[in-house]
Amino acid sequence: MRKKQFKTQSKKMLDMMINSIYTHKEIFLRELISNASDAIDKRHFRSLTNTALGLDMSAYNIHIERDTDNRILKISDNGCGMGEKELEDNLGTIARSGSLEFKNENEAEDIDIIGQFGVGFYSAFMVADKITILTKALESEQAFKWESEGVDGYTIEPCEKADFGTEITLHMKEDTENENYSIFLEESKIRELVKKYSDYIRYPITMLVEQRVESENEEEEPRFESVEQTLNSMVPLWKRDAKEVSEEEYNSFYHEKFYDFEDPLAVIHTKFEGTSNCNILLYIPKKAPFDYYTKDFEKGLQLYSSGVMIMEKCADLLPDYFSFVKGVVDSADLSLNISRETLQHDHQLKIIAKAVEKKIIAELKKLLKNDREKYDAFFEQFGRQMKYAVYASYGMQKEALQDFLEFKSSNEKKYVTLSEYVARMPESQTAIYYAGGKTIDKIEMLPQTQAVTGKGIEVLYFTEDVDEFCVTMLGNYEQKPFKNVSDNDLDITTDEEKEQLKQENDTSKDLLAFMKEKLGDRVEEVLFTNALQTHPVCLSTEGGISTEMQKVLESQPGMAQGIKAKTVLEINLNHPVAQKLKALYGTDNETLEKYTEILYAQACLICGLPVENPTELSNLVCDLM
Ligand code: ADP
Ligand code: MG
Repeated sequence: MRKKQFKTQSKKMLDMMINSIYTHKEIFLRELISNASDAIDKRHFRSLTNTALGLDMSAYNIHIERDTDNRILKISDNGCGMGEKELEDNLGTIARSGSLEFKNENEAEDIDIIGQFGVGFYSAFMVADKITILTKALESEQAFKWESEGVDGYTIEPCEKADFGTEITLHMKEDTENENYSIFLEESKIRELVKKYSDYIRYPITMLVEQRVESENEEEEPRFESVEQTLNSMVPLWKRDAKEVSEEEYNSFYHEKFYDFEDPLAVIHTKFEGTSNCNILLYIPKKAPFDYYTKDFEKGLQLYSSGVMIMEKCADLLPDYFSFVKGVVDSADLSLNISRETLQHDHQLKIIAKAVEKKIIAELKKLLKNDREKYDAFFEQFGRQMKYAVYASYGMQKEALQDFLEFKSSNEKKYVTLSEYVARMPESQTAIYYAGGKTIDKIEMLPQTQAVTGKGIEVLYFTEDVDEFCVTMLGNYEQKPFKNVSDNDLDITTDEEKEQLKQENDTSKDLLAFMKEKLGDRVEEVLFTNALQTHPVCLSTEGGISTEMQKVLESQPGMAQGIKAKTVLEINLNHPVAQKLKALYGTDNETLEKYTEILYAQACLICGLPVENPTELSNLVCDLM
């Protein structure tokens, strides 16, 4: 029979794993047990719609058998089994792509880490030099045998097996000077490992153990008898008392269940007592999954009814703005074969969803208050989603979310909340100022930003597309309106300065009208300003759409392309160029026209808008030179 090769990536991974000297070999047992448990889940799940496939709940079982003399450890289950193709697909390649990605990012770094998080089935090669699998898939007549001695490949052939399910035989490695593999064949070690890693598994994990049987006749020696014993307590983690679960147990459960290599940022474990009991175990991840901000990401919590999973991702349990949360909800009185449609209208489910939301809010508040660094790290990952939710809900989520929002600011360039910003506003300040741009550096270079910070006013830096849309939906915070520093009616000058400016603009009315005429529809108005510090010009905007928003809207396919910011070309009254313009008007209007074009182009460049005709601009500049 021809030996098949593992897919390349698997080969690399396998090689690395087998040959790595690493201390967590023991996790292989957890991985195999968890696969067995998954397989039983699948069988049970399928039996919900096809009762003929199922077993009595009490008949499901994961069995461990050890044969010390022959160095064999067997793990069998009566789960869904695998067909030929599944064997090929599932065990011919490493299924959990996450492991590989992780490895690639961390090439040559601590290999040990892999073991801690588990790499599924393949981890068995750390302790076994040969693995034989007998398996028969549900509804199938034929069973198959898969066999492999590690990197050089595997074989698959038909075989005999009576019942549906899978039996995995590990031929344990011989001990070496440094490694003791025999220990994994010892009864006490297996007990310990099951307790440590797999205690919550819902199905009994059984093993034949030697038990002392006292004889009735006192004269006789006690006998030893093999009896089958269940090693795990079978109480799912989420059903246990939070006080009794260790951080390690929470983390290990999280890695295994949600395929994250990192420990979670926060764990929320609670019981909710409504009309019936409900256990809730939630995790806030440390990092956003790679597909989090794409269409592919699916939010949802695992939904259990009395310990049996009925839905892998129940979206209705999580509001969009908390879509990053992972976890399990187990409620006693949800119907087992509830469908997605009926679930949506399920009253009980709505109550649970509300409770879940409240718990998340409480946890985030706690983080924000007690562990700011952690909260900032969280916000860095998931804040965009919350801001987006404010925008997408037309501000309806304002109350729930506004206190969780953070922005970088001119003060310290680290995150501030709106309430912190407002708290340190001087009394005379009437609005919350912000400036938008691609990066903080670009924002700080904006003339308008400098104009406002120059007055000692703190400015929030909006570097994400969604920021300005979000605060537009918020409208205000604690009655303070949000104001873009590029707004043409910024209220940062004194009454005196305002009056002076008004006079200047009146006096130069004709000059400004001439320039506006030259620029046509491109600007609403041309005005002098006395707010700018050093820059000669800037583009400010009138009305609700800023130039930043215009850029975002234009970049989105399908969005109305006609939406344009209404811009005003503002010229710094205190800059020599203002005098020059005044002097040119009426004496050399031709040059004045050129100046106008150049100033407008400069203003566009400064705020990051494209210059419509670069060649023309370049010619103009050369002309003047
Ligand atoms: P994961 O469990 O993360 O998917 P594994 O490497 O542990 O990755 O397992 C790969 C796949 O092999 C599983 O997804 C499952 O489809 C299949 N498999 C492994 N063990 C069993 C089993 N005991 N019964 C049925 N299928 C199994
Ligand atoms: Mg697995």
